[in-house]
Amino acid sequence: MAGRGVTRTRFAPSPTGLLHLGHAFSAFVAAEKSSSGQFLLRIEDIDRDRCKPEFEDAIFEDLAWLGLQWRQPVMRQSERLEIYRDALSYLSDLGVTYPCSCTRGDIKGALSAPQEGVPIHGPDGLIYPGTCRGRPMRDLRDGDVIRLDTGRAFDLLRDNMLSFRDGRVHVLSRDAFLRGIGDVILARRGMGTSYHLSVVLDDAAQGIDLVTRGLDLFDSTWIHVLLQRLLDLETPEYHHHRLIRDADGKRLAKRDDARSLRALRDDGVSPAEIRAMVGM
Ligand code: GLU
Repeated sequence: MAGRGVTRTRFAPSPTGLLHLGHAFSAFVAAEKSSSGQFLLRIEDIDRDRCKPEFEDAIFEDLAWLGLQWRQPVMRQSERLEIYRDALSYLSDLGVTYPCSCTRGDIKGALSAPQEGVPIHGPDGLIYPGTCRGRPMRDLRDGDVIRLDTGRAFDLLRDNMLSFRDGRVHVLSRDAFLRGIGDVILARRGMGTSYHLSVVLDDAAQGIDLVTRGLDLFDSTWIHVLLQRLLDLETPEYHHHRLIRDADGKRLAKRDDARSLRALRDDGVSPAEIRAMVGM
């Protein structure tokens, strides 16, 4: 932990494209909320197919251009695969994981007759209908993903409620979790981990006490709180910030290269103007 009275934050981009205004805003918010010298950077590069070294170089260059300074060393998820593997086997020993071979098509098929009022999408995509739940881990085959058995996880915690602080205390019941989020993936095919598992372990390892990120990840935070409870990690405070949208009100995506910081800079826009553009 960063220590009493110190706020340690991080910016955790994935090098899958050029940074855009939304990233600049996220990085500014994190840097502004950190105590002096406690702004950290983490490269979220577990998706080896989509991450590119040139985008990682661009992250450092763009952030430095914006005038941001981060603490060294920079954490890189691709160097922590063993830590994710250990956590996964710890969870598997707790009996809260199972292998799953369902394709997206299988899941859609199983969800094709939804009950009224039951959501189909959660923060992690389609809510898993539980087809493979109960399969033992020794059954794990090449090409399977590993899922969290959330019902068992709550049984183990002997608690029917999760909470975290983002300005005020937010709470979610076990039933709401099972219905609206479900059995999320902890290890993706060929990756050995997932965003959710890695982010929880990394925020703890970096001693982050305030996680700042976009409101689009608010619902994912419930998954992180559940994992923190299972892994005996402290739940940090959260600040989910507003999202930067384009003129049509659409969220900026990395593929909008025209709106990248790089393109704006090439057009002669200054870092101070970038700050103004995102309403800082
Ligand atoms: N790597 C994620 C992204 O680029 C950020 C996740 C987080 O801040 O927790 O969207």
